[in-house]
Amino acid sequence: MSTAAPHRVVGVLTPPDSLDVSDAVLETTAEGLRATGIDGFTIAAPWHKLRISERLEGVERSIHFPDGRGGQTTDDDGIDLLVPRVSQSWFGALRQQAEHHWRAAFLVAGAAGLALVLIFNALIPVLAGVAADWTPPQVDSAIGRSSIGTLQTMTGPSRTDPALRRSLQSDFSTLARTAGFAPNAVRFQIVDGGRIGANALAVPGGYVLLTDQMIARARSRDEIVGVLAHELGHLHYRHGVEKLYRAAALSAALYLLIGGDGGLGGLASLGAGVVTSAYSRDMEREADAYAVRLLRRTGYDPTAFGRLLVRLERETGSDRPSLMRSHPVSQERLDMIQDLAAD
Ligand SMILES: [Zn+2]
Repeated sequence: MSTAAPHRVVGVLTPPDSLDVSDAVLETTAEGLRATGIDGFTIAAPWHKLRISERLEGVERSIHFPDGRGGQTTDDDGIDLLVPRVSQSWFGALRQQAEHHWRAAFLVAGAAGLALVLIFNALIPVLAGVAADWTPPQVDSAIGRSSIGTLQTMTGPSRTDPALRRSLQSDFSTLARTAGFAPNAVRFQIVDGGRIGANALAVPGGYVLLTDQMIARARSRDEIVGVLAHELGHLHYRHGVEKLYRAAALSAALYLLIGGDGGLGGLASLGAGVVTSAYSRDMEREADAYAVRLLRRTGYDPTAFGRLLVRLERETGSDRPSLMRSHPVSQERLDMIQDLAAD
């Protein structure tokens, strides 16, 4: 579609890094697309600089302009008429061809699946582990400072009884000393969880954060101390940094394979990754084993935190941010805690 008459659809326009939307008209130009907002703002870009999401039933189509601005419209047919070709990624193009040849489609799906499995399960964890080993500790501190900044906007000053806070601080110091952390290498803070709810976090650079809401759910001090020991395990193994490398590699892989929103969104949200992304099952297993060893050496009940995790999982809906999001609990995990503690 090169010299066809201009065609237009109605939608909205969103500025970069913002959720403010304004009504806009999208129309073709000689070499691309122009969006004009209701406020008179105009942006235009040639086809090769635009990314247009593919047609999905019930999902708004989005158009990404090179400056980060986004357009959205529900007018699927309109967009298909605007766009010279629907497929924007090589994967999409392959898929279109394959639709005509089911054997090819089967092969493409199989190969893409295999590539994904290989990347997700084998390559990324290994590369992320190597990258974390090669990362100087100063990087952990820098990531930690930015994560703490993010966390401060989500949490507030603790309302837990000061005497209990002091006693937990002393438990934490005992754990850290026994674990062999240098004095002041790790710090512990209790906060009002606010948007992050009942939670405990190990932030790269040596911070452990625990929320009032988490303390409120615990039935014994040993349960809380167990969670702290588990978080120290994540710090000891530098899982936070490894997790970020995994997320970054995953986003890059997704972007290469399927293009478009999935990959870019992942890259953009990397900063919040420490807070929101999950540890792998291997990392949880390592941190659990570390906690059980440490708790036994310090004389706390090494199985108590498993009970707290189960209770939290039962009480917390999946729609709420919680410890479960970053530390998923499985029966296998609980059995392992019991086995380790019984050894
Ligand atoms: Zn964990």
